[in-house]
This record gives sequence, structure tokens and C-alpha cells, in this order.
Amino acid sequence: MRILLVEDEKILADTVRRGLVNEGFVVDVTHDGVSGLSAATEHAYDVILLDLMLPLKNGYDVLRELRQRRIWTPVLMLTAKDGEYDQTDAFDLGADDYLTKPFSFLVLVARIRALMRRGAPERPVVLTLGTLTLDPVNHRVRRGETPISLTAREYGLLQYLMRRHDQIVSKADILDNVWDSAFEGGDNVVEVYIGYLRRKIDVPFGVQTLATVRGVGYLLSADRVAKPVAAPQPRA
Ligand code: CA
Repeated sequence: MRILLVEDEKILADTVRRGLVNEGFVVDVTHDGVSGLSAATEHAYDVILLDLMLPLKNGYDVLRELRQRRIWTPVLMLTAKDGEYDQTDAFDLGADDYLTKPFSFLVLVARIRALMRRGAPERPVVLTLGTLTLDPVNHRVRRGETPISLTAREYGLLQYLMRRHDQIVSKADILDNVWDSAFEGGDNVVEVYIGYLRRKIDVPFGVQTLATVRGVGYLLSADRVAKPVAAPQPRA
């Protein structure tokens, strides 16, 4: 079982490498993102341990480029506490697991073995809801085969709603998660953006998937066909 460790803290890298070798793994180590990416591209590994903050290319960019090259080797991200990024970002980009430093070596080994058991099927990280798809790797949204162009905020809102599909989410939840904490406007902005989104993901396709639950919030569900407009009554 072969592991690639991409970690710029040399003492940590060496400690982890020696521990893993003792556990019977074959371990290659690189100390920056660029050489990590080329090692991961050129050789077949069972698991990649990827530090987040790396010289030359950070762990997120390495992971994104790997997935764009359709290399699905399981990746365990090593993140520092209170980092700039969080777990959600790591999973969005196709990480399979993450550990926050400092971590226990026993936990690390257990996680590696779990990833190896799971293996690396070619799994798209695309979110799907009915005919609506959102690919977090390249930020593409489609309804069926039709690409939908969204602004960054609309995209963030849709991603949030897709992760919570078939649940009612309140304006406050949306505001907390899609707008940054410095935002001082009122929650009416949510309603405005829900409207923008509806005009892009629903209206042109004759479906109603993004519903307003009056006084409670919003609900995104799989395709519901919009009620057909009543046929005009024949004149008497
Ligand atoms: Ca680092």
C-alpha cells in the first residue's frame, strides 16, 4: 500500500513517514504543492495525505487540479485549526476526509485504512437534484443539458440550498451561510436572490422547484412541474 505525503513541515513529515513505514506502508514525501501534484499525477497511490498550507501551491489547488485531471485517489486533508478554510471547502473540492492538526498517529492510521478499504471509484462530486446539477469543481450548473450562468452569490445560494434539499431553510440560515458575517443589510436580500435564482433554474424550464414556505423560509426539491396555465375558456 503506497501513500503520498505532501507536507512542508519537515519534522512532522518525517515523523509521520517513519510511523507509516513501521505500519508497513510505502511512503513518498514531497514538501511543496507543485511536486506533490506531479507525484500524485505520475504515480499511483492508494491514499494521498495532503497538507493545506503548502509552499508554491496550496493543498486546495493541488486537490482541485487532481480532480480536474480525473485522478480520484482518496485524499485526506491535513488542516490547521482555525484555518482560513473549513471542512466544507475540503469536501466541496473532493477531499475524502480531513484531520485537524495536531492529530493522533493512531487516528491517522485508522483513517488511512478506512480510505483504503473504500477505494477510489470514479465518483463525481457533482450535486444532483432531479435534473439540476451543480459541479463544485468547476462551478458549472445545469438543468438537464442546459448550462445555467449564475453570479457568485447565486451560485453560493444554490449550493447551500442543494445541500439542504427537501428541508425548509430559513432566511436567517441562508444569510448566515451564504453572506459573510460583515453583511449588514436586512434579510430582504435573501428574497431578492431567491427570485433571481428562480428565474434562472426554474422559470425557463417550466418547473417550480424552489418554493417559498410563507413565514418560514424556502424549500428546494426535485423537479415539480409548474401548474399548467388554465386553458382559455371557449367563448360562449
Ligand atoms: Ca503546512
